[in-house]
Amino acid sequence: INRPIDATKRQEDTVEVALRPQSLAEFIGQKSSRENLSIFIEAARQRDEALDHVLLHGPPGLGKTTLAQIVSRELGVGFRATSGPVIQRAGDLAAILTNLQPRDVLFIDEIHRLHPSIEEILYPAMEDFQLDLIIGEGPAARSVRIDLPPFTLVAATTRSGLLATPLRDRFGIPLRLIFYTTDELKLIVERGACKLGFELTEDGAAEIARRSRGTPRIAGRLLRRVRDFAFVKHKSEKAVDREIADAALSRLEVDQLGLDAMDRRYLLRIAEFHQGGPVGVETLAAALAESRDTLEDVIEPFLIQEGLVLRTSRGRVLGERGWQHLHLKPPALLNT
Ligand code: ADP
Repeated sequence: INRPIDATKRQEDTVEVALRPQSLAEFIGQKSSRENLSIFIEAARQRDEALDHVLLHGPPGLGKTTLAQIVSRELGVGFRATSGPVIQRAGDLAAILTNLQPRDVLFIDEIHRLHPSIEEILYPAMEDFQLDLIIGEGPAARSVRIDLPPFTLVAATTRSGLLATPLRDRFGIPLRLIFYTTDELKLIVERGACKLGFELTEDGAAEIARRSRGTPRIAGRLLRRVRDFAFVKHKSEKAVDREIADAALSRLEVDQLGLDAMDRRYLLRIAEFHQGGPVGVETLAAALAESRDTLEDVIEPFLIQEGLVLRTSRGRVLGERGWQHLHLKPPALLNT
């Protein structure tokens, strides 16, 4: 899918790297996670120990990778990054682990997609900083134990529910990231405009923030699209204000709530084909030609948080706000 407000990572995101906050102090929002991290980081530094393992979970684009990098920078240690699906064989993980320096941060994105056999190697590595490897095959096979430097695993997942309990239990510091408020996103957008070197009025920033689905990655992306639009239309002759931002975002089919065509298709499907639900997620995924994972990880979390959709034991149900947003009436009210 190619959505202007898709929160998953894409190629163009090298610009994103430039917009990344570099320290906890610069990191906006996620107050409780930030405060917790800052205390644990301070304690680890004073004791000269590796920080306990950190599990970051929450929808894509909320700052998990950014926070992992900040943790290593604040600790003054090295940073290595990989991701669950990239680690194919035990040897891949062994190579990464044995190359770490003491107290380094190892970041594993999408840890819920790690192969179970590799997960098992991770357990002793996390717990005792030891690697148990089988070398050779058949009767000649023997197991060797390698000592690892103490390190900090920072893992990210969009769904901690998919993690095996023994893995989840090995993280001393589990942190849940939540959607950002409009005020927080406005600050992020203002700083972004500053870094990109263009003039954005306060109400222009507020408009982009309001339509960013609570997600910094989307805010950054919309900011760049608005800048392009303004550049072509007005040749940087005027500061980007609410009117320009609104025109650009409407052109991208991002509506007042920040929903895009895909979100509206999802809502309309429940309204028009299932009279508001309940309808199972698999049925919706098939009808919309999306994977169930995309619906659950990318599309639904924001719609649920906004009360547009409700997740019930019998399936998805369109919430009152969902009907309002579509300017439709629930069937039960049609005759009233
Ligand atoms: P995730 O790993 O959760 O998918 P990222 O850490 O890659 O998300 O963040 C996506 C982008 O959003 C980053 O490149 C960064 O520019 C921006 N971002 C995330 N969190 C913040 C924040 N708190 N303040 C400013 N920008 C942020």
